[in-house]
Parts: sequence; structure tokens; C-alpha cells
Amino acid sequence: MATGLLHDERYFWIELGNFLPLGPLAQPFPAMDSPDGKRRILNLIRASGMMPHLVELAPREATVDELARVHTRDYIALVKRLSEGYGGEVGDFTALCAGGYEICALAAGGCITAFDAVLDGEVENAFALVRPCGHHAEADRGRGFAVFSNVAVAVADARARGRVERVAVVDWDVHHGNGTQWAFYEDPDVLTISIHQDRLYPVDSGALSEIGAGAGEGFNLNVPLPAGSGHGAYVAAMERAVVPALEAFKPDLIAVACGFDANAFDPLSHMICHSETFRELTRQAKAVADHVCAGRLVVCQEGGYAPAYIPYCAIPVIETLSGRRTAVEDPMFEFVSNMGGHDLLPHQERAIEAAREVARRIG
Ligand SMILES: [Zn+2]
Repeated sequence: MATGLLHDERYFWIELGNFLPLGPLAQPFPAMDSPDGKRRILNLIRASGMMPHLVELAPREATVDELARVHTRDYIALVKRLSEGYGGEVGDFTALCAGGYEICALAAGGCITAFDAVLDGEVENAFALVRPCGHHAEADRGRGFAVFSNVAVAVADARARGRVERVAVVDWDVHHGNGTQWAFYEDPDVLTISIHQDRLYPVDSGALSEIGAGAGEGFNLNVPLPAGSGHGAYVAAMERAVVPALEAFKPDLIAVACGFDANAFDPLSHMICHSETFRELTRQAKAVADHVCAGRLVVCQEGGYAPAYIPYCAIPVIETLSGRRTAVEDPMFEFVSNMGGHDLLPHQERAIEAAREVARRIG
């Protein structure tokens, strides 16, 4: 069975505003969350010759009722109202442009489409190249370039329709997956896991001590890694903390909130991962999905702010999902992989061991 690739030109037609507010002595600059990186991912997939071997999936807009499984109706109405006017702020670092509502609903709906394609058996697994990202959006506000919590909406939808009982979300975007975490914080049937740079964004969330609450206690796992972490730390975090948690939880489907912003060139983080890191993370996610949920794996695009480099991180993910190599080679691999700091360092190992202790309680 083939791998699905969900994409749509309109994902590149939304702007979420500038990273920093402008002021009298702040010279304007292009938005960090540029569509360029994700468009270049699609360009490289096409240029690589991979497209004919993938099943192309077309998104639809999530309905208000579908969005309302995660977001308040007041917030959804606010996004719609601003979108119909001149746009405006929907949360910190998130300024919606006019006409943005439909594209945000298309991003959440795209994740629903990708989930359905996998659950229907139309494809074995899928990569949803959605934009804007979703994992920072909370019930009643956007945050960090995210308007609707795309993956959370898809998880809630699949569960509401009885298509799955238990879902695990693995978020390896370099920033904390706060929106996904809070959406299911008291839910024992959704295991939310986030590997991220410790106290990066949002600065006050993503601590190891956030383990879920009520019936959901023990079903949220944060793996905050120190700034400067690279290939060794990420692979070890996945292997030692994340995979055992997934094996113990035994989900019916695994979703990956896949940011590429832990790469060495990203301007919004301080990690040094490279293309082969993302290949290995995907390999591990696929292996555990094969073991616990018949390979049902949906990888949904989140952040990534180094437009020239992230296509080389995305290709290994798609190659691993599909089991098919292309001729694409990461032109920066020698440079990045030979940087110091890729071996697992003692302070990183301590952080991973602490997360492994928390993961032991899942099951
Ligand atoms: Zn991010």
C-alpha cells in the first residue's frame, strides 16, 4: 500500500503576521512564518520524482462543529469575523490575514482527510503538508502562528465518529505542543507526547511535571531537551522515552506533529538536528506503529523556519513512510553532521532519563 501526500496550493496563501511587533525603531522585515519553506517541500517532492509513487490527497475545510470539538464557538466566530474583515490578532504571535479562516479550516480539515485515508485503508500512512501549523492553538485563542489545533481536531473527530478509541500524538516540533496537550489533558484515551527545547515557546509550558490531570493523569509526556541538543539527544529521547510510552499505551493510530524547526539552521530554535535525525525519528515512529497499530501513522506538518533547509528534512520522512528512496541528498549534511554536540551529552541524558521515568507510569 502507498503513502498519502495531502497538499493544497491555498496553504501557501495565508500570512500570520510578523514575529516581533513593529515600533518606531524597528525596521520592518519579512514574516518568519513564510510559506516559502513548505512550498519548497512540495517543490522538492515533485523534483525528486516521488510524486507518482504517492497517493495525492485533497483536503476539505473542517466544519464549525468539527472545530468546536477542540475550540470554543466564540473563538471560532472571532476568527471568522476577523477573516471577513481586515484580519487581526487572534492570540500571541498570531495575526490572521483577511480571508484566513477558510485556509485555517482547510488545515484542520486536511488532517481529518489524512486520518480518514489511513483509517479507510486507502493508504498505509500519510504526510499532511498543511499550513498554518496547529499545535500551539488553544481552545479559545491562537498562539505561535497557529489558529486551529489541526492534529487535535483530527484526533477528536476520529474518536467522536468511533473510528478509533485510543490515539497517541508524538510532537517533535522544537516548540512545546501546548495546544494538543491541553486539548486532551484530562483524557486517558489520548496520549500526548512532546519533545521540545526546554522553555522555548510557550516559555511557561512543556515541563516534565505536566503529566495530565484527573482521569488523564499519566497520559501526557513532556521531554524538554536542553538547548543545543542534536541527533544523539533526539534519537535517544525517541528510543528511551517516547517509544516505550507508545508501546505501553497501544494506540489505534499514531499521529506525528512534525515540525522541522529543531534543525541547525532554524532561526526560532537552538538545536542542531539534521535531515538524518528526521529520518531516524520517522523510522522509529513507523516501527512502533507497525508493531502496535497495524502501521497506522499520520504525519502532520507543523513548524520549520529555515526555508532552504527544511525540504531536505521532509524528504527523508516521506522516503521512510513510503519505503522508497529518491536521488535527493542533503547538501548540508556533511557540514551539519560534523558539528560538535551530536553525541548524547550527560546533561541531555539526564533530561531523557527523567522523561523515561515518567513514561514508565504510562499503560
Ligand atoms: Zn515550532
